[in-house]
Amino acid sequence: MSKAELTGHCLCGKVTVTMTPAKPHLEACHCEMCRRWCGSAYIAVQGDDQVSFTGEEFITRYTSSGWAERGFCSQCGSNLFYCFTPTGAYSFLAGLFDDVGGMTLGEEIFVDEQPDYYGFTQKTVRKTGPELIAEAKEAGFEF
Ligand SMILES: [Zn+2]
Ligand SMILES: [Zn+2]
Repeated sequence: MSKAELTGHCLCGKVTVTMTPAKPHLEACHCEMCRRWCGSAYIAVQGDDQVSFTGEEFITRYTSSGWAERGFCSQCGSNLFYCFTPTGAYSFLAGLFDDVGGMTLGEEIFVDEQPDYYGFTQKTVRKTGPELIAEAKEAGFEF
């Protein structure tokens, strides 16, 4: 696990991201929206609201739902982040970083929406969409 800051960048390098992982592992989201956005599962490094960017003028934010924005580089098209707008917490595509500090996949979410054409071999905590939404409601979020 690593609490060290990570710095990553998009394909063209116009946008760089500096963040500190909020969890000691990576998370994969299998939901339909993430798959459409990423081409397959979204493998994410979870961050918090302490994030800094350079090249912010190249970041386009797309409001993908009532509680989330997804960012991409307008120059090269690389997807960058998912932002949960009620808290301002970010997660980033693991592929932006040269090195994720030794973290591996530890959690998979929306496993009920996972298609059968791929699967990961890591031993993970697996949660369905309804389980995740119930947890968020318990934490006080309304959807
Ligand atoms: Zn770019
Ligand atoms: Zn998702």
